[in-house]
Amino acid sequence: MNGTAKPPASRSADLILHNARIVTWDAERPYADLVAIQGDRIMATGSRDELARFQGPGTRLIDCAGGGVLPGINDAHCHPLALAVALLSVDCAPGTVGDIAGIGAAIRQRAVQTREGEWIRAAHYDEYHLREGRPPTARELDQAAPRHPVILMHRTAGHCVLNSLALKRAGITRDTPDPPGGTIHHDPLSGEPSGLIIGRNAQVDAALPPIGGDELARGMALATAEFLAHGITSLQDTGWNNGLRHWRQWRRLIESGVAACRVSMLMGIDALDELRDAGLSMGAGDNHLRIGGIKLALDESTGCAAPPQEDVNRLALRAAQAGFAVGLHISDVPMLEGALAAIQYVERHLPETRGRFRLEHCTLCPPALLLKARASHAIVVAQPSFLRYMGQPYLEQAVSGEEGWFLPLGSLRRWGVPTALSSDAPLVPCNPWVGIETAVSRRTDSGQVLGSREGVTLLEALEMYTRGGAQASFEADRKGRISAGMLADLIVLDRDPVAMEPGEIAQLRVVSCLIGGRVVRG
Ligand SMILES: [Zn+2]
Repeated sequence: MNGTAKPPASRSADLILHNARIVTWDAERPYADLVAIQGDRIMATGSRDELARFQGPGTRLIDCAGGGVLPGINDAHCHPLALAVALLSVDCAPGTVGDIAGIGAAIRQRAVQTREGEWIRAAHYDEYHLREGRPPTARELDQAAPRHPVILMHRTAGHCVLNSLALKRAGITRDTPDPPGGTIHHDPLSGEPSGLIIGRNAQVDAALPPIGGDELARGMALATAEFLAHGITSLQDTGWNNGLRHWRQWRRLIESGVAACRVSMLMGIDALDELRDAGLSMGAGDNHLRIGGIKLALDESTGCAAPPQEDVNRLALRAAQAGFAVGLHISDVPMLEGALAAIQYVERHLPETRGRFRLEHCTLCPPALLLKARASHAIVVAQPSFLRYMGQPYLEQAVSGEEGWFLPLGSLRRWGVPTALSSDAPLVPCNPWVGIETAVSRRTDSGQVLGSREGVTLLEALEMYTRGGAQASFEADRKGRISAGMLADLIVLDRDPVAMEPGEIAQLRVVSCLIGGRVVRG
């Protein structure tokens, strides 16, 4: 040992990951060769010759074989409970089925295993990717399952197709009026409902039986296996109608060990009163389940595409006055302008709320709004997989020169707008590596590049999917960096991401996954 060697640490580590390229996002030591863990926290990072400093007789060593180590992936916007349900549903996603006959065959197979009269849920169809270019009809679903009520959800969950028995159970007939903000589609010849229901429909919601606790646990076990396989250690549940019921569901799933990932919940605006009555405020909970804010999605909750500005302002102020951060759901450019105006409005009344806003999706952002987005001090929570799976229809309709408006990650970065990446699963698969690859390559699933100037580097995408997520849930003091005192949520990759060429990203594999210093996969 030479004279500059540091003395041994006062207490040895429980676990050391070594022989690794550790990307820390810690300005003082951006890269390290080893990370020492005590209990559920990171004790220190170090260089390869410091192993002996942290190693004691009881220390477990994991040799990372020169691969990369990063903070765990944090999916900053997703719907894990809906994903759990979707994983129990018949899979009609593009790639699994290619036409209406394929949907029928998959549903028929499920009908054989399902008691007559019980609901069959199918999910993830997308008419854009079906050979026929249209959704199936009630009649076509009847042919697959005449004696079961069937609901086939679109992959955006924004509309669905019911078969005849399901229409009957929901009480939808040729005379049923359209609900506010939604449409019951009719066959133009017969006038009967075609089966296609656009937008939210309370009658359909009421007819569907709730998913029981055991069934939900079964779905969550499947979802958790997917999350961990992809290196996701933290989830942010952003359901617009999340309330106390969902909070309790999460508690049970976590306590029973079915849900391993950490969860931060955005609660629905309608839950404000029940949260107050239950004594739950911003940041309530623990490191496994925490309240991360309020989600404001007026278009989703009312079905009205253009909510009045006064309503957005009033509700954002109400959530902020109750002490919550606010995530504003944004599905088009006017809504982005409305959200930025609402943030200004709230900050005028409550200057201390600066930096307590999230812009959910923000998928279309023209250059003129980038400066305003920066001035809002909000964090953009974006979904790069949207470009992969939904970029092609946009590209075909986009006005020339506006290709870069779609998911402008490069510009957001250049303008210094903090950004977190996420999946919005089950809308699209939760796989963050597809999102990361897309954030870099900007390739749609047809292979075309959409707005090449808006690509980011691999390391930038990784940072947005890890540290960015911790910022979005206001937990940057404990997550998203690898440095002393932070939670030991880590992933080991089979390669060093720093040394990789952009074309190689798809080959990157998660070897193991740690949550709170415990190896949960690998
Ligand atoms: Zn969402």
